Amino acid sequence: MQCPICSSPNVESLSHYWQSLPAESPLRGKYAPPDEVPSQAWIALIAVVGGIAVAVSGAILFGLLVAVGGLLFGAFNHAMVERYRGALADWTAARICLACPGLF
Ligand SMILES: [Zn+2]
Repeated sequence: MQCPICSSPNVESLSHYWQSLPAESPLRGKYAPPDEVPSQAWIALIAVVGGIAVAVSGAILFGLLVAVGGLLFGAFNHAMVERYRGALADWTAARICLACPGLF
């Protein structure tokens, strides 16, 4: 495999390169993997279940508001987790050229 920018054969997988960097290297921050986004589906689930329970107990509008808020939060959190997974897959598949140093 060659670097598409400078045609150097001296390319390495970005994750290997990053792991081999010394802890004090400033490049560790530059080439670090994306920050993990934890799944918080349980918060959304509690809000939806709690909201429905509140709605059933009489405060219908407030309960529905809480349930809808839980659904929206769950959808937003899910989208962020998916985005993180895509970014992590890109990072895992990325290669770095040790000559130029280009990322591709
Ligand atoms: Zn290169």
